[in-house]
Amino acid sequence: MLTSARIKEAALAAGADACGIAPVSRMEGAPDEMNPMLLFPGVKSMIGFVFRIPRGVQRGIEEGTQFYQYPSMAYGGINEIFAPAVLYSVGKVIEDEGYEAFVYRNTGARGSVSDMDGSAGNTLSPEEQIEVNENAKTSTAHHRNVQFTRPTRPENTAPDLQFHFRLAAVACGLGEIGWSKMLLTPQFGPLQRVAFLFTDAELEYDEMYSGPPLCRKCGACVRECPGGCIPSIQSGKKVTVDLAGKICEWGDIDMWRCYAFYTHAGRYYNPFVPKEVFDKNEDGALDLLEGVTDVANEQEIMKVYTALQKYFPSWVGYNMAKCGGCIRACVHMLEHKGGCMEGRFETPLRTRKKAWRLDR
Ligand code: SF4
Ligand code: SF4
Repeated sequence: MLTSARIKEAALAAGADACGIAPVSRMEGAPDEMNPMLLFPGVKSMIGFVFRIPRGVQRGIEEGTQFYQYPSMAYGGINEIFAPAVLYSVGKVIEDEGYEAFVYRNTGARGSVSDMDGSAGNTLSPEEQIEVNENAKTSTAHHRNVQFTRPTRPENTAPDLQFHFRLAAVACGLGEIGWSKMLLTPQFGPLQRVAFLFTDAELEYDEMYSGPPLCRKCGACVRECPGGCIPSIQSGKKVTVDLAGKICEWGDIDMWRCYAFYTHAGRYYNPFVPKEVFDKNEDGALDLLEGVTDVANEQEIMKVYTALQKYFPSWVGYNMAKCGGCIRACVHMLEHKGGCMEGRFETPLRTRKKAWRLDR
């Protein structure tokens, strides 16, 4: 017999670090193109899986000594290898009982609307960035590669449907969204990625998290973002979502700005780019990173990527994140000031007083 307990047992045995189950109806009210209730008729349950990011994967960036492990292990490794393997394994348990297992790994910016700015068809994907750069002459100006998508039946939304992963994780009772928009869980703070599975089986459902707030509203993520992408808590610039009665709030992050800074980090936090490149700022390509313009949009991001990508090429199919500033700041704060990361490690993530910053 298929039960929630059996599914969770299979998930943990296959390698997930946590698993929560919700009625998919908790996502009611999401825009159609982001509503998993529309994935297939008869979908009833949403199963969320947490995959921890080992804290040591961030150590190299924290020390400024090794930058490759975070994007390759915590993005590429989890999204492409660990999570799909668990989805596959749990899916078989469900289908052996005669129910469907609609697996949904992290697809990264493949929806019919942009997860950056909501614009239709604009799915510039981190995974496609290299291709865009190399073939820029033949790409459309905005690389809107699903611009012609259309519903396949009158009652369908245009493919591909991509839902809000972090809200879905909250719906599954796995945690809460912090001010930095990261998912925080009681077990791992901000250190995880998630994947989902949808089924027509009716299951026993987890309550949404209702313990002490996981976000301390300390503002460390705001202070340590190299791009100033996260608004201060005092500014009141926030996004509020009523998720089946649970109010979720986070800072209204400038997502395009983050897109530029999390990969390229800027003059003081990217040791791979010579100082002279920032000084020269050829053709204004680095205006966004250098603070010459406040305008953060796809055009500015493409300029930054085209100018800097060669200084740290990607071989993992993902943007080569050099930042993680908000994550590391959050871990540091939750270890030092009390919170879900307190006491988990023998030594804290940050053993020095301050995070490093290049002097140039
Ligand atoms: S990932 Fe980096 S650039 Fe983006 S919000 Fe976090 S600290 Fe800022
Ligand atoms: S750093 Fe502080 S404010 Fe930011 S998400 Fe973490 S706990 Fe919340």
